[in-house]
Amino acid sequence: MNYNKKTIRDVDVAGKKILLRCDFNVPQDKETGAITSDKRIVAALPTIRYLLERNAAVIACSHLGKPKGEWKPKLTLAPVAERLSQLLGQEVIFAKDIVGEDARAKAAALQGGQIMLLENLRFDPREEKNDPAFAKELASMAELYVSDAFGTVHRAHASTAGVAAYLPAVSGLLVAKELEVMGGALNDPKRPFVAVLGGAKVSDKIGVINNLLDKADTVIIGGGMAYTFAKAQGGSIGKSLCENDKLDYALDMIEKAKKNGVQLLLPTDTVAADDFSNDAHRQVVSTMAIPEGWEGMDIGPDTIKTFCGAVRGAGTVVWNGPMGVFEFDNFAAGTRAMAQALADSGAITIVGGGDSAAAVEQMGFADRITHISTGGGASLEFLEGLELPGVACLLDK
Ligand code: AMP
Repeated sequence: MNYNKKTIRDVDVAGKKILLRCDFNVPQDKETGAITSDKRIVAALPTIRYLLERNAAVIACSHLGKPKGEWKPKLTLAPVAERLSQLLGQEVIFAKDIVGEDARAKAAALQGGQIMLLENLRFDPREEKNDPAFAKELASMAELYVSDAFGTVHRAHASTAGVAAYLPAVSGLLVAKELEVMGGALNDPKRPFVAVLGGAKVSDKIGVINNLLDKADTVIIGGGMAYTFAKAQGGSIGKSLCENDKLDYALDMIEKAKKNGVQLLLPTDTVAADDFSNDAHRQVVSTMAIPEGWEGMDIGPDTIKTFCGAVRGAGTVVWNGPMGVFEFDNFAAGTRAMAQALADSGAITIVGGGDSAAAVEQMGFADRITHISTGGGASLEFLEGLELPGVACLLDK
């Protein structure tokens, strides 16, 4: 997959009317609808400011939540327009529809240096169906398309890929950074390249493990995933997480690592609990001999030493998925140690979105990580080496 795509810095944006796909899918209070974190809106500011400073007229658009093609007033983007306006210190004109009369009139009247926001794209069922007529209507309001919603580039929707059939398409600054850092790590990593994978389910990360065994020098597997590997090798894992239909796959991956000369590190010891709770009794046991009735909740101290040692000597580290049930403080040590090891290493460090990103932020290491990806599903598909429709549709450099 080619990640070398044109960005807003490579084209003339001055005075242009621009359709800007943002990720304004912000968390909201269930009762009041109030925005509980404006991080995603703040993250969009550099691209928006870059365009407005060059006198572009910005037609921003995004989805919010899962309205499933229905007009759901609770999921209106109006509060986002308001917050964006406060952050930018200028008016954000809000359209009451997406490609309807109001949006089209406001887009036509929009002047250079002004910004407007369309209503929630997913209110229209044609968005997620990547309907060409809908994509064409969206595109017809602008002269250039800018993709800056990394969280949705793995989806072929009208606003993430379809519009590129009708407009020249480039990336915004957020997507550009994702492509530069993650693309660089996958295509030309500074070695040794260490991949750290954790989280609950092997099945979610099958493609990622498989792809990284072709690219990395060391692959580390922790978290709940590791017990499927332990059982596949004849271990007793008590009531730990296990995907019995993935035992053969685990053995195949162990074989593949050997064949490719990749160091595959699995946990040797485990912090086991007699109950899935923070206050459960705990004991450190061999990962291959977890007692009946106990479950593996975190990597043990020997494993922490081995895993973190591998990270310390790395040139590039990619991390996706926690090492244990980090939501429980008593089982967060492995994940915390891994976050610390990434922060302390001199390596290029990349944390895939989702739970590991949340853990790194919660634990206070975020500012010492090279790049924390903003897309959960998108960064996983990126690491799988899959073609991302929202990236493939952008102009090559
Ligand atoms: P994922 O979404 O696949 O990255 O998984 C993240 C989740 O995996 C987190 O909520 C963790 O609590 C969970 N997890 C990590 N290790 C374990 C484990 N040993 N047993 C059960 N759940 C785990």
